[in-house]
Amino acid sequence: MILHALIRHVQKGLSRSLSLTTATIRLSRSLSLTTAAASLSILLLTTSGCGSAFKDVNVLSEADEIALGREFSREIEREIKLYQEPEVVRYVDELCQALVLHSRRSNIPYYIKVVDTDEVNAFALPGGYLYVNRGLISISGTEAELAGVIAHEIAHVVARHGAKALTRQLGMEIMLGMISGRNPRGVQRIAAQLAGIGGILSMLHHSREAEREADALAVVNLREAGYDPEGLTGFFEKLLEINDRDPGALATMFATHPPSRERIENTREQAAELPVLEGLITDSDRFRQIRGMLPPLKKNPLEKEKAE
Ligand SMILES: [Zn+2]
Repeated sequence: MILHALIRHVQKGLSRSLSLTTATIRLSRSLSLTTAAASLSILLLTTSGCGSAFKDVNVLSEADEIALGREFSREIEREIKLYQEPEVVRYVDELCQALVLHSRRSNIPYYIKVVDTDEVNAFALPGGYLYVNRGLISISGTEAELAGVIAHEIAHVVARHGAKALTRQLGMEIMLGMISGRNPRGVQRIAAQLAGIGGILSMLHHSREAEREADALAVVNLREAGYDPEGLTGFFEKLLEINDRDPGALATMFATHPPSRERIENTREQAAELPVLEGLITDSDRFRQIRGMLPPLKKNPLEKEKAE
């Protein structure tokens, strides 16, 4: 069959060897020819060389994306400890849902959880599963800064960056096998083979363009939800300052979300260009109260500033 041969050809040239060779395309059983042909044509259109294959392609349906995110979240939550203080959890969830409501993808449910660690970081899994570390809330200077980080993570879900990154990393071989939900075990198998949180997060590593797009979406989202759109800029500035004083203090955050002068300038310029809105929230008593409820950080990078 020509289609089959073509797919094999593309597959040979493009698929990455990620020890996931057990998955095979079973076109006749798991896919209708139309779906396969449509996916293949997207691929052929966007393929200009091995390196750039799948750069901005997502072959996952919304249902598959959510199923994969749910499976990843299960895998990850075996390894992390969640922070359970109900008031803090409720506050973070309400802040997240307020932002989601004004995002460009509010039709799917979002789940946000607080990870019980001093480490400053936040991340998003495909399909609306978000995590923010307790340490990140502690170093946020204002509610708008925290909202900025959460809006940035929401934006990765909005722009389906996780699904695109997976398509890029795993290749068509794996993704085609998952299309249309007729292969529910494929989702579980992928999550299991990525070997826990390290594997999953490195697989979801975003390109610089994806980071730029998420920043831009976050700035708009913040403002539309009633928050100072410079919150994200403020947070990036803080991270850079901490890093200048103590390189390595924020290693994980920098690995996944490297703040740069360029990102600070871009978000600041974008926020300044938006029409002025009165009454935008920068900070709130409730945020300060919630932050005050968190256990002190063992090594607070901000306190070091005061000591110097
Ligand atoms: Zn990001």
